Parts: sequence; structure tokens; C-alpha cells
Amino acid sequence: MSEKDINASYKNFIEELIDADLDRGYVKEVYTRFPPEPNGYLHIGHAKSICLNFGLKEKYKGKCNLRFDDTNPITEDTEYVQSIMEDVRWLGFEWDKLCYASDYFEQLYEWAIFLIKKGKAYVCDLTAEEVSAMRGTPTIPATPSPYRNRSVEENLDLFQRMRAGEFPEGSRTLRAKIDLASPNMHMRDPVLYRIIHASHHRTGDKWCIYPMYDFAHGQSDYIEGITHSICTLEFEVHRPLYEWFLEALELPHPRPRQIEFARLNLSYTVMSKRKLLELVKGNYVSGWDDPRMPTISGLRRRGYTPESIRMFAERIGVAKRENVIDVGLLEFCIREDLNKKATRLMAVLNPLKVVITNLPDNYEETLIAINNPENEAEGTHELLFTKEIFIERDDFMENPPKDYFRLIPGGEVRLRYAYFLKCNEVVKDENGNVVELRCTIDPESRGGKSPDGRKVKGTIHWVSAKYAVPAEVRLYDRLFKSEIPDEADDFKTELNPDSLKIVTGYIEPFVREIKYGQNVQFERLGYFILDRETTAERLVFNRTVTLKDTWAKKVSK
Ligand code: ATP
Ligand code: MG
Repeated sequence: MSEKDINASYKNFIEELIDADLDRGYVKEVYTRFPPEPNGYLHIGHAKSICLNFGLKEKYKGKCNLRFDDTNPITEDTEYVQSIMEDVRWLGFEWDKLCYASDYFEQLYEWAIFLIKKGKAYVCDLTAEEVSAMRGTPTIPATPSPYRNRSVEENLDLFQRMRAGEFPEGSRTLRAKIDLASPNMHMRDPVLYRIIHASHHRTGDKWCIYPMYDFAHGQSDYIEGITHSICTLEFEVHRPLYEWFLEALELPHPRPRQIEFARLNLSYTVMSKRKLLELVKGNYVSGWDDPRMPTISGLRRRGYTPESIRMFAERIGVAKRENVIDVGLLEFCIREDLNKKATRLMAVLNPLKVVITNLPDNYEETLIAINNPENEAEGTHELLFTKEIFIERDDFMENPPKDYFRLIPGGEVRLRYAYFLKCNEVVKDENGNVVELRCTIDPESRGGKSPDGRKVKGTIHWVSAKYAVPAEVRLYDRLFKSEIPDEADDFKTELNPDSLKIVTGYIEPFVREIKYGQNVQFERLGYFILDRETTAERLVFNRTVTLKDTWAKKVSK
């Protein structure tokens, strides 16, 4: 069996639960949903959830909705709605229905009335602080609200007037009457509705009472016919409440089943929308799609592909316990994917001028470079070789250690696709800095082939000084210097001051053929992609990832 087949035959615990529901005939098809709150841009953690929910749709030939969990008018915005739709589609998924929890406000209101009539909900005049002070502890029951035993008539009247806008924000709530002694604090008369006098991004000023997450989520699942409502572990303690509402509302079976899995945490980054928003608002990054951000839009701009993110989600699988995934695994996935896809070019990011003294001044030779050694069908392109070239400063050392195989005074290297190059003279400025190398090529070594069996260990990249195209190259490193920035009192103190370095690179002229969105490899340096800030006058490249694979090394150790 191939690795892929083995993975396909292996079931995770969510699939086992789903199989059990199908086997006993409780549900006939699998219907999932991805339910973001439109209060920020999606991050790689959401991508995990998207791949999981839409992946189950694909696996079981079922359905999956995109539902905006838009029950809080203060933090939500249509800008976020747009970006979320774009990100889900970019990852390669299409929803069966596009839904909004706000579409169910009327139905949810009716259900609240139903609970009031059944004596299972009451209007409470306590402030949030008072409720909190009376909450008790897991072992000490909560103190009953003095409003707990209001009559059904009074509750109906007050709740209708809450809706009508008669009361100020925060002055009253509707609470479920459940169990003040429950060890599960979520069952101690949770709030169902709160008064918020704010405009909602979709319903405008129609409502001034808004349902809480717990009262909206399960019922929204029910309305849409969701069979398996997959969420992250922090909602495990909400599950009794999720089930209590479906039961108290006497909703016919089959009802949705909530299943929790461990949220994805990634090393060297933070992953809560609130914190990401803080980075954006505080100008610590250039925006939600700053290529250092763990957002889907940031990763996209950085040059990540949907395939690499899906591969990553697949590899981490679903866990029942929280852990932190090494960001090296994500980098491994993008290297895997780009090795197959990226167009190869030569670029020099830290140039050192080389003058080839045995070539005439106006020498020009056309060489042939391979576009992608992993895919012959992508063909070749032309490369101009001239008397003056740039090589990478790091590829020359005046006083090298023993195991240095690149250019040294008197030594020889192979210029990729070109010739053997010998360094005869090192030119320095008045401060002793190397400013130029005077070299010769062996005309017999064309194509980099040894003419007489003599060996040259190093092969280095180069560009023609005359024809190279200058470009702004943005070299990104990890946004945070510590592995788990969340452990610090203020995660912002953990920001890596060197997370972005901007250099001018010199790229072979073939770069003009590169299209926006096309992944490239600058040979020996890494994978790069054109940034959206590129203009007709100035190319801007983002480094997606270097070529060095630290993750694979760690694993094989
Ligand atoms: P954050 O805490 O980052 O603000 P959230 O959970 O509030 O995220 P939602 O918009 O409510 O964000 O999440 C939409 C869905 O994505 C939920 O089902 C949630 O459980 C899931 N999700 C959010 N973060 C992660 C994560 N890190 N790993 C896996 N799933 C996640
Ligand atoms: Mg949330």
C-alpha cells in the first residue's frame, strides 16, 4: 500500500464516531459546517478546521456549509466576511450553502419565547458583575438571582420590551433556568440574550438583543441539518448546554452531535484573532496579510500554496489533546510542494563583482537553463553570460576553513550552466574590503564539464552584471523569537526584531517572464514569490522559505 492508501484506510476518532452514527442509522448522510465569526481574518488554525470539515464532506460524499457565526455586532464586519469566503475558496473548497446565524434571529427569538413559556427561561436584571459575584465555585452552588422566579407573563412582557428597545444596554438579560448547583458552570443559568444597541453588519438596527454563542450555535446547526458539529476542545464543557437546548426545545431527531478536537497551535507564532488584530492595530505588521502573519492571506502572500496547507492539515491529523506543532512541519510541506512546482532562476542577493579577464569587453554568450528539473515539460530558458558577473559574497572566502568548497584565491569553482572559474586576484578598497574578483574561465569547460578530468567541488550561481534586473527582496524570518510567545506576560515582547530584512537582489532577465502568483526558486537560496506591491518600475519579491530543511533533519535524528 502507498502512504496515501494507508492514510486513506486509517480512521481518526471523528470518523469512527461518524461511522457509528451511520451504522446505527441515526443519520443518512454526513453534513458538516465551518462556522467562523467574521471578526478577523482566518489563520492556519482555521485552515485546519476547514480542511477537516470540508474533508469529511469529500470523504463521505456529504455536504458542508460555510456559516458566519455573526451574533456579536460590535466586533464583526463585512470586510471579514469577504476575506473569509476568499480564503475558503482559495484553499480549494466550495460550500453547499452560505449561511449566517443572523438569518436565524427570528427563529431563535421564537425559541426563546418557547423556553419562557415552558418556565425554562427568565429575564434577569442583574448586571454582569453581579451575576459573576454570585456564580459560586464548582463546589459551591450559585446564589439564585432574585428574578429567577418571575412569572411567565412578566418574563414574556419584559423580553418583548427588551426586543423593542425599551431598556439600556446591559440592563437586562434573558437567562436559561437550569441548575445553579451544577459542577459545570455553563449550566448555572447561562445568558441566552443580551441587549446591545449597535448596528449589525447584516441586520442593521433591526435588533437590539443578540443571542449568545451557546444559544445560537446548536440551533443553527439544527436548522441547517448539520449532523456532526465539529469544534475545538474549549467547547467540550459547553456540550451539555448544547444538548440541553435541543432537548428543552423538544426538537425532533436526528439532532446534530457536537464533537471536539484539539485546536492547532503552531510554534513561533500566536493564533488568536484577538492577538493578530492587536498586531495589525499596533502596526507591528503591515496588515492582516503581512507575509509573516499566520493568517491564510499572509501565507498566500508569502507564497504558500493551498496544496501545501492541505498537506500540512492532513499530516497533523486530528488530536484529542492540545499540543504545539513545529512550524518546521509547515515549512517542510511548502518545500515539498514547491520543489515540484517552482520555476528555477538565478538571483544574487548580496553581490560581489567578478570580472572575467580572459573575455573581451563586449562578450555575450547565450546559455540554456532548465526551468524545472522536476518537470521536464516546463522546458528551458536562455541565460546571458557576460564579462562581468555578480556572485554571492558568501560564495567567496579569502581565508577559508578546510571544508569550504566555494571560491577562494587561486581556487576554482563551477559557474552554474557556464564554465569553471578561477580566482586570480582579489581587489580591495582602502579599508581592506573585497570589492572585486579578477578571474578567468576555462573555455574548455563549457556547460560546466571538466575538460581533463580535474575536479571542481563547488557549483555556484551567478548573474550577468549587465543584464541582471534589480529587485527589492524581502527576507522573512519568524515573527516571534520564542517558541511559545503566548507564555510571556505580553506576547508582543517576544516579537523578533529581525523578522524582516529587505535587500536589493539581482535577478537574471528571465524574471521578466514571471507572472504574479507564480512560485519561483532562486537557486540555492530559497523559494520566492512576487509581492502585490510590485510595480512596472520595481519588482518586489517575498521569500516564502529557505531551501534548508531543518524539520526533516530533526525527525530523522
Ligand atoms: P480565535 O480564538 O483565533 O479567535 P475562534 O475560535 O474564536 O478563533 P471562530 O471564528 O470562532 O474563531 O472559529 C471558527 C472555527 O474554527 C471554529 O469551529 C473553531 O473551533 C475553529 N478554530 C479556530 N481556531 C482554531 C485552531 N487553532 N485550530 C483548529 N480549529 C480552530
Ligand atoms: Mg470564537
